[in-house]
Amino acid sequence: MIIHADMDAFFASVEIREQPALRGRPVVVGGQAESRGVVAAASYAARQYGIRSAMPTATALKRCPELIVLPGRMALYSEVSRQIQAIFARYTPLIEPLSLDEAFLDVNASTTLFGPAPQIAREIKQAVLDELQLVVSMGVAPNKFIAKIASDLQKPNGFVVVKTANVQTFLDPLPVSRLWGVGKITEKKLHAQRIHSIADLRHAPEQFIRQHFGQYGEQLRQLAQGHDPRAVITERDAKSISHETTFAQDINDVEILRSVLSNLTEQVAWRMRRQNVQGRTVQLKLRFDDFHTITRAHSLSATTYHTRDLWRTVLQLLNKEITSGLPPIRLIGMGVGGFDTGEPHAQLSLFDVPHDSPDPAHAHSEAGNIDKITDDINRRFGNKLLSRARGLRRPLPPTN
Ligand SMILES: [Mg+2]
Repeated sequence: MIIHADMDAFFASVEIREQPALRGRPVVVGGQAESRGVVAAASYAARQYGIRSAMPTATALKRCPELIVLPGRMALYSEVSRQIQAIFARYTPLIEPLSLDEAFLDVNASTTLFGPAPQIAREIKQAVLDELQLVVSMGVAPNKFIAKIASDLQKPNGFVVVKTANVQTFLDPLPVSRLWGVGKITEKKLHAQRIHSIADLRHAPEQFIRQHFGQYGEQLRQLAQGHDPRAVITERDAKSISHETTFAQDINDVEILRSVLSNLTEQVAWRMRRQNVQGRTVQLKLRFDDFHTITRAHSLSATTYHTRDLWRTVLQLLNKEITSGLPPIRLIGMGVGGFDTGEPHAQLSLFDVPHDSPDPAHAHSEAGNIDKITDDINRRFGNKLLSRARGLRRPLPPTN
């Protein structure tokens, strides 16, 4: 069995834990409205106003003028994330983090020692609450895709177990929007074909689905039948580390895209440094409102895990796309592959990265020193004092 563990409103919950006066109030962690920031996490009190992550902060403030907008403290969240993973690791070494606050756990080999998967999930949930004063929602299921749906189903504070025998009865009544990758557009298309529930999709003739939705439709049909052969892959064995954000509404504001991309880059870089893995290949992923998806990659001459190098490279990839004119964006992601573990063999030369530095204040400093100093200070004081989390704090200077 697979467990999907997903922290509730993670960044916001950590802030509320640190500042108990915020409890019950509408709180988001994210960029300021003036700098066209985006909500990175919303407390459940904020969600009652329809505020969601990946929504422009300006929109969120329109919905709730008394909203409390906090800048992010990525170092603190990363540290808490490490503590959460340490709790997971008591039960299984097979942990696949999807982000700082979400992971798959393969517990198949752990049951003789710790009892059945639901019991392990219960114990982990309790330990996270007792030791970290944070709430994690759990989904327990035969595969990753179903475990992920299950963890989300009763959020917040969810706990859903799907037994192998019950997979189809669990999936069938759910709306097709629950399927991985089905956004508003695909949902509309499916609805137009009178496919509303996962059962509708499962019962639709294969030929019909292929005709209307192509290869992607076949993947959806597989999911509708509960098939998902993907194994849990640990971060150590991962070929890449990536983060992506699906927007609550399609975005064509370049500053918002840069701001979100900066935040994603920061999170990827954090995870790489924590794992001590360095990568050479930087990838940008964009999905447009019509679901067309492109990826663009650039390989550096040496491996790195420094935020500055990764940010410059991925920003250059984005800027290139922008010059050719972009349709509205549904999803943006960045990832780093081409891993090499351990210490750097070679320092990146100045010529490896684009010259139009988005971050003039740091342009002449050494990337590693900045990371180290920022990491240290953040760890001790939080990054209220020192931050370059552009995505969360301030607008980017123009780059062209
Ligand atoms: Mg979460």
